[in-house]
Amino acid sequence: VTVGTVRERAPGERRVALVPEAVTLLRRAGLDVLVETGAGFGAWFTDADYTATGAEAVAADDLYARADVVLCVGPPDTATAASLRSGQTLVGLLEPLRHPDLVADLHRRGVRTLSLDLLPRTLSRAQSMDALTSQASVAGYKAALLAAESYDRFFPMLTTAAGTMRPAQVLVLGAGVAGLQAIATARRLGAVVTAYDVRPESRGEVESLGARFLDVKSPPHTGPGAGLGGYARELTDQEQRDQRAATDAHIARSDVVITTAQVPGCRPPLLVSAAALELMKPGSVVVDLAAGELGGNVEGSEPDKTDVLDNGVTVIGAGRLPSAMATAASTAYARNLVALLRHVVRDGELVLDPADEITGALMGGGPS
Ligand code: NAD
Repeated sequence: VTVGTVRERAPGERRVALVPEAVTLLRRAGLDVLVETGAGFGAWFTDADYTATGAEAVAADDLYARADVVLCVGPPDTATAASLRSGQTLVGLLEPLRHPDLVADLHRRGVRTLSLDLLPRTLSRAQSMDALTSQASVAGYKAALLAAESYDRFFPMLTTAAGTMRPAQVLVLGAGVAGLQAIATARRLGAVVTAYDVRPESRGEVESLGARFLDVKSPPHTGPGAGLGGYARELTDQEQRDQRAATDAHIARSDVVITTAQVPGCRPPLLVSAAALELMKPGSVVVDLAAGELGGNVEGSEPDKTDVLDNGVTVIGAGRLPSAMATAASTAYARNLVALLRHVVRDGELVLDPADEITGALMGGGPS
């Protein structure tokens, strides 16, 4: 089986699907590895680093002609998608819920897809392949650092000859993978952290990191916030308003707010309204990890955009944070891909079995 790693085409994307250490592992497993020239450079890996571990650096045309499996990070652009042919398999975070037409078109043309976004994440066998988790961890870590960088005071309590500085009060809304990593990072920097999530079971995880779980008294009509597959469900408009009414006072008291809430296939819930931003103190910082095309958790936030509001509150709409730490993110992603390729390559053959719990889910109903 020949796998080919393409250079990512999305603007600002610096990650690469395979890193040199992963090439070594795949070669050992009997796979041939092609890497498009320059593919790793955004993550500081040169073509020579790849060839030293047994990959062949080739031009894109050559790669599409020879690869059985094409590896990418984000969804391919139109030109890349058009270069794929029937019988080839594309593996990546293809975002089939956001770009259903892209994947449907590939399937129509006989291109097989393995969308890592569709991984059944609660299966313990699938954990080593969980790219959403590996990338969300990087994003959560980086979000806490961005907040610390923009905040004009210390995160830790500091006792100096000139007296004691109080620690920063950090509030993390959404305590999934990214939120937990943001909590851990803010704690390591010495902040006092409070966190909230609609999934009641996240309380234990928050507390085990030394943060306080925010008790939001649910009005009588709200049920538990847990939905299918371990994810949150979408709250009704009324529930969202009630939630904001309960969290606004905590937002106003916080020096830093980091939001990470997502509901699969839906617009991210609005957790910090313009009214709540107005109540915050000058110098406070808000980082919205959920900022995207559809809006984010913070009213008015936009990806890759920082606004300083009239009242002195800085709102940072996070962009592609894993790409901002491309080396760590690519290394973790490549390990996920190695685990997946070991799962689907048996005795030197690529076996895509729709009946397999993991493979079948990743194929998303496409050709086998
Ligand atoms: P996600 O990115 O879909 O969402 C981030 C967080 O936002 C989630 O914790 C969600 O509950 C929360 N959220 C949604 N709406 C909210 C609202 N209105 N207010 C506050 N918080 C809100 O989630 P994720 O980080 O991908 O994790 C999803 C689930 O998968 C979690 O239960 C996580 O523990 C689980 N998970 C399990 C495994 C495993 O078992 N191996 C691996 C990874 C993740």
